[in-house]
Amino acid sequence: MKKIIIAIDGHSSCGKSTLAKAMGNALGYTYISTGDMYRAVTLYFIENQVDIKNIAAVKEALTHIRLHFETDENGNRIHLNGRDVSEEIRKMHVADLVSPVATIPEVRREMVRQQQEMGKQKGIVMDGRDIGTVVFPEAELKIFLTADVEERARRRYEELIVKGHDVQLEEIKTNLSERDRIDSSRADSPLMKAEDSVIIDNTFLNHEQQLEVALDLVRERVREIG
Ligand code: C5P
Repeated sequence: MKKIIIAIDGHSSCGKSTLAKAMGNALGYTYISTGDMYRAVTLYFIENQVDIKNIAAVKEALTHIRLHFETDENGNRIHLNGRDVSEEIRKMHVADLVSPVATIPEVRREMVRQQQEMGKQKGIVMDGRDIGTVVFPEAELKIFLTADVEERARRRYEELIVKGHDVQLEEIKTNLSERDRIDSSRADSPLMKAEDSVIIDNTFLNHEQQLEVALDLVRERVREIG
């Protein structure tokens, strides 16, 4: 089957990574969570006390950040300067700062450059907020994923509790709503539905059902483009 680029965008915690990962496995595609990249940059800024209002400091810090993904039995893991930070970046102190960091044009420019590089070979499924609009406007398939905010908060809460994080449901709901607000209203590449994307609302779909819907879309697109 011809290899394409699949862009998945949507609101915070609506299962984009789960869907992207499952599609990657089913199709034999590389899967990249661009949210992990913004989170890793945020972690670097926190650990190195980079003042995000100081653009010169942000630019300087970006020259010291090396990100790469490595696939092991736990999935596609993000490494920040050689250290696996895949667990660390899910913590609330990172979640609370990541959206302000992702509004910084210098940060976005560098992340987008690296993401476009990764897509050169096609056969990639990438999830984020600006994949279908900015990173790969020419992607053959664009999915805009969403779900009810209560359901999204409940899912993220359960996921974090299982991993042993000490979190409250209300705190998660506030974080998701706040990230959606910042992500959708920022000046540089805000979260929005690309005109040619297909909406999947997975509030009432389980993992298998949403994968099924998405794979049907892939087959349809590949058939269309021959
Ligand atoms: O996907 P995830 O929820 O892990 O992303 C964390 C944050 O990174 C988002 O809330 C958003 O602020 C930022 N992000 C972005 N553009 C992307 C991916 C993530 O601005 N392509």
